[in-house]
Amino acid sequence: MSEHELTIRVADLDYGSKEYEFVVRAPWIRGALEDHDATTNGEDGHLSVRASKSGPDVIVSGDLVATLSTTCGRCLGPAQFTVKSKIQALFVPKAKLIPAKKGKKDEEYELSADEADMLAFDGENVVLDDLVRDELVLETPMIPLCSEDCAGIAPPPGSNPSVDAEEKPLDPRLAALLKFKNEV
Ligand SMILES: [Zn+2]
Repeated sequence: MSEHELTIRVADLDYGSKEYEFVVRAPWIRGALEDHDATTNGEDGHLSVRASKSGPDVIVSGDLVATLSTTCGRCLGPAQFTVKSKIQALFVPKAKLIPAKKGKKDEEYELSADEADMLAFDGENVVLDDLVRDELVLETPMIPLCSEDCAGIAPPPGSNPSVDAEEKPLDPRLAALLKFKNEV
């Protein structure tokens, strides 16, 4: 993943909230989901958000839509699904997240439960890239299906499920045990 593409300049919000329409580009999705099962289906996604300041913090809310391509969990063929998510996050300046005095300097600041939806920003730009990526990952179904009634992989004609088990060589230690058991 390289450049951030989904950024909001906080200075633009000084005079009130603003609406943003971002194209979530297919190449961006490909890069962002590099280590993930699903990827872009070649089409751009879309992110529309409203951003507003609340003191030093920035509130972002809106909608994310993107269609991703993945592998069907039943037939292993190509499958697509569309992510339609509500995005909501509170960005707080990094400086505010670092506790002034805590004794331990280099330790990461741990968010308490009610701060879990908070994300940090550098004070100038709110970057939505990670938020969008996480949402795409989160919304990927555990077992994606190419269609609701996917029949799965058809067993090859004439196949016998028990053949599979017999083909695997038995662990020699297990074989010895079995032999022992049979002799007793
Ligand atoms: Zn399928």
